[in-house]
Amino acid sequence: MKRLQLSLQIMGALVLWAGVANATTDTKDLLVKFTDAKAANRYALRAQTGGAKIENLGDGQWVRIQFADKQIQDRSLRDLRSNPNVLATQPNYPVRLLNNYRVNDPALRARLAEIREAQAAAPKKPDNLDIPARGPGGSGTDGEYSKQWGMNDNNVKGSWGQGRGKGTIVAVIDTGVDYTHEDLTDNLWRNAGESGTDSQGRNKATNGVDDDNNGFIDDTIGWDFVSNDNKPYDLYMEGLDLLMGGGNPGHGTHCAGNVGAIADNGRGIAGVAPETKIMVLRFLSEKGEGSTAGAIQSINYAVKMGAKVLSNSWGSEGEDPADGAQNQALRDAIKAAQDAGVLFIAAAGNGHQGVGYDNDKDAKPAYPASYDHENIVSVAALDSGDKLGSFSNWGSKSVDIGAPGVVVFSTTAGGKYSDTVIDMYGIKATWDGTSMATPHVAGAAALYWSVNPNATWREVRDAIMKSSKPINSLNGKSVSGGKLNVENLMKY
Ligand code: CA
Repeated sequence: MKRLQLSLQIMGALVLWAGVANATTDTKDLLVKFTDAKAANRYALRAQTGGAKIENLGDGQWVRIQFADKQIQDRSLRDLRSNPNVLATQPNYPVRLLNNYRVNDPALRARLAEIREAQAAAPKKPDNLDIPARGPGGSGTDGEYSKQWGMNDNNVKGSWGQGRGKGTIVAVIDTGVDYTHEDLTDNLWRNAGESGTDSQGRNKATNGVDDDNNGFIDDTIGWDFVSNDNKPYDLYMEGLDLLMGGGNPGHGTHCAGNVGAIADNGRGIAGVAPETKIMVLRFLSEKGEGSTAGAIQSINYAVKMGAKVLSNSWGSEGEDPADGAQNQALRDAIKAAQDAGVLFIAAAGNGHQGVGYDNDKDAKPAYPASYDHENIVSVAALDSGDKLGSFSNWGSKSVDIGAPGVVVFSTTAGGKYSDTVIDMYGIKATWDGTSMATPHVAGAAALYWSVNPNATWREVRDAIMKSSKPINSLNGKSVSGGKLNVENLMKY
């Protein structure tokens, strides 16, 4: 076979990034804030008879409305704007993978298509839809731990004598997680309200009943807000499918591993907090597409169900600069998380076309990382030499800290482990990104919280910031001026 010559530069920097709909023209898909749940429900009943699709976002006030047709939409919008029970309306901004691995060169695509012929298959959730109760047991060294340079740099293992994250829950709000992965299954959060047996002796996890009355049926490990079911599996694209169609390479599974993969089980890797519980919330599809509504539903679910740390490796750059800032629905959800004592760890952003920029000064700062909510910890990406990733955003006021985010090794979807997204036909990309840096900080927050259970979100945030190690590359480019230092944090 003729070797394919590629000069294509694949961005190692992978972050979930939002394209933003134009606020003035796209009103078919709206988020509307009502004064209270009663008003929202009253409106929903009427709108549904008009063919609109209504979804609650989980806070009792914000509702997603998708209108059936233009006429109804126009009339309804007039109604909404004159409705004294409506506090705000805004577009449901889309969120999608910004840098994907789709090859666009026509000649190259043609060659890849030949190779791919007869291989095409849409990604599927596992045939066995039961989420394993337990992964394989085992003890001993995590064989791939030495490849996790970020863990070693932080002396994470040396810090586990004080605590390993027990009693904390980290919500990974992303593309889902491979919940069958041997290094993750046993560390998934389990909803106590959907476990055990019901009054009829049936397994609550599978009885088709919302046993804990939280609005979600059989939500045992989290929720899939894309397909609206209880299986938030990380549907992923790989190999030629990824090169031809782009999409999600298993982003959420990679993030989850560095938060809390199982340690000392003789398999794979270890997360920063190997005894934390990972709550899985999927709001981005295998194509890497989702919306503000799904992000908010995920945040509200996580807060309601007891997560203390939210790991958010996604964001909106705001094609119209004002739009990200004006995403009131998202701001409200993060504020509600703060009011509930929850930390919101957010990727600082991967720049424009992979070139990092200053979130303080750029016309398009990354959101939600750059919102001024104090419970947000915005994370830049560093390489193993303490240099800022060329793609990583920074900001002396808006970016808080740096963490490992270049060539990051972790669990990958399909039960594997890697620091490489793709390596075929001369196309190679590693797992780089502020997306990868964020879960390290989320794990660290869980670790600290597990040994300081009475700490407030502010105390946890301050401890992370003050224990950071000063580095030149973040001096004047971040609030802390330093990088995550788990060893120092656990002595703090
Ligand atoms: Ca439930």
